[in-house]
Amino acid sequence: MRGQVYKDRSRALKGLKCIAGFRVPMAGYTTMRVGGPCAALCRPGSLEELVEFVKLCRRRGISYLAIGNGSNIIVADKGMNKVLLRLSSPFFKRIDSDGESLMCGAGLGLNMLCHAAERLSLGGPEFLVGIPGSVGGAIVQNAGAYGGSISDIIKEIMAVDRDGRVRVLKAKSAGLGYRKSSLAGLIIVKATFCLKKRSRTDIRDRLNTYTERRLSTQDYSAPSCGCMFKNPRNAGLTAAKMIDRCGLKGTRVGGASVSSKHANFIINRRHAKAADILRLIALVKKRVNKDYGVKLEEEVQIIR
Ligand SMILES: Cc1cc2nc3c(=O)[nH]c(=O)nc-3n(C[C@H](O)[C@H](O)[C@H](O)COP(=O)(O)OP(=O)(O)OC[C@H]3O[C@@H](n4cnc5c(N)ncnc54)[C@H](O)[C@@H]3O)c2cc1C
Repeated sequence: MRGQVYKDRSRALKGLKCIAGFRVPMAGYTTMRVGGPCAALCRPGSLEELVEFVKLCRRRGISYLAIGNGSNIIVADKGMNKVLLRLSSPFFKRIDSDGESLMCGAGLGLNMLCHAAERLSLGGPEFLVGIPGSVGGAIVQNAGAYGGSISDIIKEIMAVDRDGRVRVLKAKSAGLGYRKSSLAGLIIVKATFCLKKRSRTDIRDRLNTYTERRLSTQDYSAPSCGCMFKNPRNAGLTAAKMIDRCGLKGTRVGGASVSSKHANFIINRRHAKAADILRLIALVKKRVNKDYGVKLEEEVQIIR
């Protein structure tokens, strides 16, 4: 049955230049390194190719999922019956500047954004350094750290909607809140960041400070998605503190483990399956709910 679905999908997508493969394992496209195959992989080389892909999917009823660096998603072991859309070609990683603003493609990595801004003496995005996501993924999740969120510095977002129309949105209308946005259904293509002139030395110092803080507190020893749970509102404690106080650091399910360094990190210690990670998530949620009466909510997106 599943084989037939893939066959049909391959036929439906035939002729599109941007299709880079069929039944590609998602584990290679996520930082957690888990996940079965997607129906196909699409990697458009230009805005026109992206629009052509979206219009064809609309006409033929094909569903797709746009991802960036896959640093905030977990895909089930059975894979997903969707086309994986990656804006990883050079066109979607472009950077332009008019001296005060920075225009970045959605596929650009956040570290590249920070370092490009530093070279232009533009300050503002330093708190994002070390987050292994792309501009597109960071906007959809409203990524942030150390009191800053990407929403603080975005001016405008360019996106393609489900009908293949190119739209430009003001950041204010993107519904950007704590690790959320109202951008579902849109493919982010590009964003304009409003930054401030600063000395390069000052910017470099800030980049170094944030990098040191990150390396000293977070677990980079094994694949992960960073923080697994959102910090609950009005709980008085962070998710990490609650998990730690429940004594869950180091708890294992199969190849997955709660990090011993940062309790809100679940790491792929040793050839974990997505199922191990999902079971560990459920175990942590149950325990925190029992001890604190708090329902933790995943920050990470789970694709089943
Ligand atoms: C070690 C580590 C540390 C981390 N630290 C932090 C941190 O400090 N703060 C923080 O906020 N996060 C952190 N994260 C999580 C993650 O890196 C961020 O959420 C990041 O912004 C996700 O970007 P991505 O490109 O990897 O998105 P993905 O994981 O690829 O996708 C995330 C979501 O965005 C959607 N999406 C991605 N690109 C597009 C696009 N172009 N158009 C439309 N939808 C799109 C996807 O469909 C998915 O719903 C960390 C992760 C790791 C592994």
